[in-house]
Amino acid sequence: MECIFCKIIDGEIPAVKVLDEDLVLAFMDINPSSQGHLLVVPKQHTENIFEISEGDLAAVTSAVRRCAKAAKEALEAEGVTILQLNGRASDQIVPHLHIHVIPRWENDGLPVSAWEMKPGDMEEIKEIARKVQECLS
Ligand code: AMP
Ligand code: ZN
Repeated sequence: MECIFCKIIDGEIPAVKVLDEDLVLAFMDINPSSQGHLLVVPKQHTENIFEISEGDLAAVTSAVRRCAKAAKEALEAEGVTILQLNGRASDQIVPHLHIHVIPRWENDGLPVSAWEMKPGDMEEIKEIARKVQECLS
């Protein structure tokens, strides 16, 4: 098995764990973008949001909220960014679903949520919404 996060889950390689439950593991990111940057993963190998089971997703989501609260309190953070990438086009590197929990502080300058805010074309926005709604039904 080549998946690095499965190796962490199986104890084959070390990680700094903060939460270990039946369905979920949370551990510190080794390339932290801020102090307290951690990752929450399902123990069942799942590549992305499209594949994860509803049960694992619920367990991961619950753990993310608890980890975010704990990291915020432990580090006296002013905010927390939650980030999850799907596919190479979205910059996902490790193909085992993981949710980044990134403590934030005012003016910390992290680029993780800093896209340029410029008004879109409302006609185009509505047309795209219509297409998405069609796929939802
Ligand atoms: P991405 O797939 O782009 O969401 O990013 C993968 C994340 O996993 C990066 O933030 C890495 O620093 C992190 N990472 C990769 N290998 C390890 C590891 N062995 N232990 C902890 N974090 C890791
Ligand atoms: Zn895996």
